[in-house]
Amino acid sequence: MALKDKKPKLLEVEDLYTYFMTESGVVEALDGVSFDVNYGEPVGIVGESGCGKSVTAQSILQILPRNGKIMDGKIRFQGHDLVGLTDLQMNKIRGRKIALIMQDPLSALNPVISIDEQMTEVIKLHQDVDDNEALEIAIQSLDAVSIPEAESRIFSYPHEFSGGMRQRILVARALALQPELLVADEPTTALDVTIQAQVLEIIKDLQKKQDLGLMLITHNLGVIAEMTQRVHVFYGGRVVETATTEDLFSTPQHPYTRALLSSIPSFSAEKGRLEVIPGFVPQLINPPKGCRFHPRCPWATEICKTKPSMVDLGNGHATACHHYDKLEEY
Ligand code: SF4
Repeated sequence: MALKDKKPKLLEVEDLYTYFMTESGVVEALDGVSFDVNYGEPVGIVGESGCGKSVTAQSILQILPRNGKIMDGKIRFQGHDLVGLTDLQMNKIRGRKIALIMQDPLSALNPVISIDEQMTEVIKLHQDVDDNEALEIAIQSLDAVSIPEAESRIFSYPHEFSGGMRQRILVARALALQPELLVADEPTTALDVTIQAQVLEIIKDLQKKQDLGLMLITHNLGVIAEMTQRVHVFYGGRVVETATTEDLFSTPQHPYTRALLSSIPSFSAEKGRLEVIPGFVPQLINPPKGCRFHPRCPWATEICKTKPSMVDLGNGHATACHHYDKLEEY
C-alpha cells in the first residue's frame, strides 16, 4: 500500500521527551519519540503496557499528571506547535480539534448528570449554537453510533446504559464536534469481545465518513490490522518501527515487532506454538543503555549497548535496530 508521504501532516511529533518526577527517581517515559499522522489517516500506536503509548496521548493533549513534564520536542498540529501553549489556548483545541476517547467509559461520564447535559455542555462550549441546536446535534451523534431511540434515551443517566453503549456515547460526544484528529486510547479494552468488535466497527465507519485522522492506541495487533493503514511500534518510550500496516505484518524489520507478532496466537498457530516475549518490559527509571530492547533481544551484540538510529528502509518503512540488515540471516 502506498504511503501518503507527500500529503500535509495533521500531526507531527518530533523528538519528544516526557519525564515523570517520582520519589524513586526520574521516569524517562518518552525518550525522543517522533511520528506523524496524516489528514484522514487511521494510524496505530502499538506496544506493551508501559511503553509510552498513553503518555504520548497525554503529552499531545497536555493532560499529563502533575508530576509529568514535556522536557523537549515539538508537537505540531496542523503546522502549529502545541508545546508551550497555555491552558486557555489548549482548551480551544482539546475536544474541538483533537478529541480523546479513553478506555474506561464509566470514569469519563459523570454518573449524576444526564447524557443530554453532558453532551450539549461540550457542544455549546465549542460551537455557537443554542440549547435546541446543541440537543439536535447530540441526538444526531447518538444516532450515528446506533444508540436506539436516541431522542428519548438521551435524557437517561450513564448507569442506564451497558458498558458498550456508554463507550458508543463517548464516541458520539467526541465526534459531535467534528474534530480533525481522534485519539482513541485502548477504546475497547474494558469491553467484552463481541461488543469490542461493534464499537471498533462504529469508530472505523465514522473515521471514514468524517475523513478523520485517527491515532488508535492499543496493545492488540488484531485491532491494528483491522483498523489502521499505518503503524508506529513503541518500545521502552521510543518508536522502534514505523510501516504501513500491510508491511509491518508481512515484513517486520525490528526484533521486537517480530516478537510481538509471534506472541499473537493466530500467528504463532501457523508455527504450531504460542510464543511469549522473554524478559520484562524495561523500567524507565534507569532504563537499559543503548537499545532498550537489548536485554530481551536474541540478536543483541555489543553494539546494541549504544542507541540505534531510525533507518529509512523505503516506502515509509523505518526501523531502529543496529542489525536490521542482518535479521534475515538469523
Ligand atoms: Fe536487538 Fe540490537 Fe536490534 Fe536492539 S539494536 S533490537 S538489541 S539487534
